Amino acid sequence: MKIGIMGTGYVGLVHGAVLSSYGFPVTCMDVDAAKIERLADGISPIYEPGLDELLASGLRDGTLSFTTNAKQAIQSSDVIFIAVGTPAKEDGSANLSYVQEVVQSIGKYANDYKVVVCKSTMPVGTNRGIARYLDGVLKARNAPFRIDVASNPEFLRQGKAVGDSRHPSRIVIGTENEEAKLRLQSLYDVHIRQDVPFLYTNPETAEMIKYASNSFLAVKISFVNELALLSEKVGANIQDIAAGMGLDDRISLHFLQAGPGYGGSCFPKDTQALIDVGRKNGEELYVVRAAIAANEKQKLKMVHKINDVLSFNGTLKGKTIAVWGLSFKPETDDIRSAPSYDIISGLLGRGAAVKAYCPQGMKQAERLWTDLNGSVAYCENEADCAQNADAIVLMTEWEQFRENSWDTIVKSMRGNAFFDLRNMFAGHAHVRRLFDYYPIGSNELA
Ligand code: NAD
Repeated sequence: MKIGIMGTGYVGLVHGAVLSSYGFPVTCMDVDAAKIERLADGISPIYEPGLDELLASGLRDGTLSFTTNAKQAIQSSDVIFIAVGTPAKEDGSANLSYVQEVVQSIGKYANDYKVVVCKSTMPVGTNRGIARYLDGVLKARNAPFRIDVASNPEFLRQGKAVGDSRHPSRIVIGTENEEAKLRLQSLYDVHIRQDVPFLYTNPETAEMIKYASNSFLAVKISFVNELALLSEKVGANIQDIAAGMGLDDRISLHFLQAGPGYGGSCFPKDTQALIDVGRKNGEELYVVRAAIAANEKQKLKMVHKINDVLSFNGTLKGKTIAVWGLSFKPETDDIRSAPSYDIISGLLGRGAAVKAYCPQGMKQAERLWTDLNGSVAYCENEADCAQNADAIVLMTEWEQFRENSWDTIVKSMRGNAFFDLRNMFAGHAHVRRLFDYYPIGSNELA
């Protein structure tokens, strides 16, 4: 079975590389010519642990190829995955223009029976709309073949994408078509043998499962973040609260870590898109809306927290703040909708000078946050970033931050405030002693 992948972002590239490692011939197509050129040379445009090795072996074995030619990718494939972006529009609804481009190409170039698999996160009803559109185009072309469509939402986590793709928590297949289901089953045979749970359902349900999962996780994060703010005021400790809650297996500890707010390319847009679907169908989703509002408040509260400690006469003028970590979570270079952007903007707005270091996120920050260029000084490493600063703000819990010469760092600084927005050092007695340490969700002193 030959595979075509349309869109070589975090999802498409990882999925394509993993399928090629199972021996399937995979053609990855993208409209970004520079990206495709680098990929063909074995250079990944994104940071994802384990991906470089998969790319190298796929290229070496000849199971993985890259092209900007949609016609070639479509005609040479039996199964075509759509993995292009579905970002939020101004009004919160999902922008399906990239999906439309791909679907139009499939309608135009398909030359025999194909199964189109929607991996991109798409609002409920999109799969059925794609199937209807392709039926219409093939009829108009008098084509002697069909195209079947299946929804197969992706649940991989950035930073763990290769591992998640190889060992998924579940595989959801939304289709009413037997042939599409059979092709996906043989493609995912390795997961059937791993006993990964498969859920077969209709396309609408599959589409909703993806949005429901992300929105539920966003609710969980916002819930614990609000409790963290309250804990600071009442003398409670959010980490112990989370542990106490998480021991109940109906709740679980996952996604109960207080922090500066959720971000990334999925939760912010998917919560908004689900609300939009609700609105269009006359159902107000109050819980999801509250999660979004709480997340916005959380980012603002982080700025207030830092400002309350460091400001003089309500301003941060003359203060230098070292931000450690920009990506929305560790082990990824993705900075899309990262809370760091809003928090840095808030600090700059109050007059602070900001230095920043992120193990993987700085290249993208310089490229995408053009409004911050010139205002943020990007640094070589975390120690360099802390030099002459009044405070460190730990934004993302990269493992490498754990090992540092803390005495040297604190000596190189002008002040000694440490805002640990991830509670990474809450149990680190030395760091807590050396710095004026401000965790999230507790006021306990060292
Ligand atoms: P991305 O932005 O990293 O990549 C999208 C790619 O599609 C880009 O390389 C872009 O150039 C390409 N593209 C745009 N138009 C194209 C076209 N007409 N033909 C071919 N390629 C085209 O996106 P991503 O993060 O990989 O997400 C893709 C989809 O998967 C989204 O719907 C997202 O919500 C969903 N998803 C993402 C994640 C994640 O962790 N990133 C997880 C699960 C699901």
